[in-house]
Amino acid sequence: MQQLSEADISAIKDESARAYELDRAHVFHSWSAQELLEPMTVSRAQGSTIIDGQGQSFLDFSSQLVNTNIGHQHPKVVQAIKDQADLLCTISPAHVNGARSEAARLITDRTPVGLDHVFFTNGGADANEHAIRMARLHTGKHKVLSRYRSYHGGTETAVNVTGDPRRWSNDRGDSGVVHFFGPFLYRSEFSATTEAEETERALRHLERTIELEGPSTIAAIILETIPGTAGIMLPGSDYMRGVRALCDKHDIIYIADEVMAGFGRTGRWFAFEHFDVVPDIITFAKGVNSGYVPLGGVIMDDAIYGSFAQKAYPGGLTYSGHPLACAAAVATMKAMDEEGMMEHARRIGEEIIGPRLRQIAENSKHVGEVRGVGAFWAIELVWDKESREPLAPYGGGSPEVASVVAALKEHGVVPFSNYHRLHVVPPINISEEDLETGLGVFEKVLTDLDFSR
Ligand code: PLP
Repeated sequence: MQQLSEADISAIKDESARAYELDRAHVFHSWSAQELLEPMTVSRAQGSTIIDGQGQSFLDFSSQLVNTNIGHQHPKVVQAIKDQADLLCTISPAHVNGARSEAARLITDRTPVGLDHVFFTNGGADANEHAIRMARLHTGKHKVLSRYRSYHGGTETAVNVTGDPRRWSNDRGDSGVVHFFGPFLYRSEFSATTEAEETERALRHLERTIELEGPSTIAAIILETIPGTAGIMLPGSDYMRGVRALCDKHDIIYIADEVMAGFGRTGRWFAFEHFDVVPDIITFAKGVNSGYVPLGGVIMDDAIYGSFAQKAYPGGLTYSGHPLACAAAVATMKAMDEEGMMEHARRIGEEIIGPRLRQIAENSKHVGEVRGVGAFWAIELVWDKESREPLAPYGGGSPEVASVVAALKEHGVVPFSNYHRLHVVPPINISEEDLETGLGVFEKVLTDLDFSR
């Protein structure tokens, strides 16, 4: 990040004070009690750094809801957006546009053979809405199965397939969605003590759920390959292969929600590549262009595409395949290749983040488990390692977790936190120096913790 001058800082302070005042008067924030909020003002960012309203720098270990995989203000992506804006800012999805065609080509170049068609959306929730609609129309069946520990978006169907408590206030129970437990050994629902047992029991539970719900009623199973917001729990390969086999056996569409885990977050283009499975539908958003301009989409296989080859697909969006968003996606995918970001993400996960977090877990009274891959890691905060009782209740926060987040921020790191967890999810191209600095802050804050009741 360029050093800010006194004049820059003074300008940032002035504009931020006004922005804050107007925000609190007029902006309605997501998932929040409006009058209990004290949001951070950010008007500048660069790479892995964001600058607050006082001109103070913070390491962004949240990637803005696990979104800016390529970091802030990547010059190639910024330039691509400017170049496209000079040519054409918007065009309806009914027309062909070069940026859109090229984005679809580059995306499908990165998918397994047979997943060759992209329906563009504005983000992740609407990608899941459309993926489910396509699966229902293709199969002629209605029910959708999804995991309790999952997040699939805030719109109607997406929030109903979501497992976590954000679903509750929108869920009338008539959505055709049935939830099940996925594997998660640390908090096993199956009394398993080994990964193999957890996998086997979780698969048996899913199979029984399918049988008892009736395979002839189930259109799709939607799974985050690695659940993100719900805790970054890596499944075993056998689990994913087992899900694929159950879908094949019962003529159920397997939708891989790669909105958070896709486009490099785990060190691969798609997280399912780690598990040797191929879905029927992939949904994506976030990392495809790091959210520089909103973009998401549904990638479908040839069979599902075939259902809409001769009859119209009943769905669409004004901004589907928006040229500015697609130009940003093209530049993002190219920059990721040119700058070796996949290898970097894999390496920092294996050699730096994993070992450092495991060491922190050993030395901290309140870190129960750390887990992850690439630049996608979770820290499980507990009252004590024996009981594993979460440091905040399911679906809520606690003063203890709030104090940990505040301490990290005080030392210059903005984390992603959810309930009793902290997630270490910096941009996948973060420099080793910034990464070490940020992890040093986690180490200091977490090893110093000493809560009692
Ligand atoms: N799916 C997953 C796995 C997500 O993590 C998210 C958002 O965090 C969504 C879907 C929803 O995406 P959006 O917020 O772009 O609608």
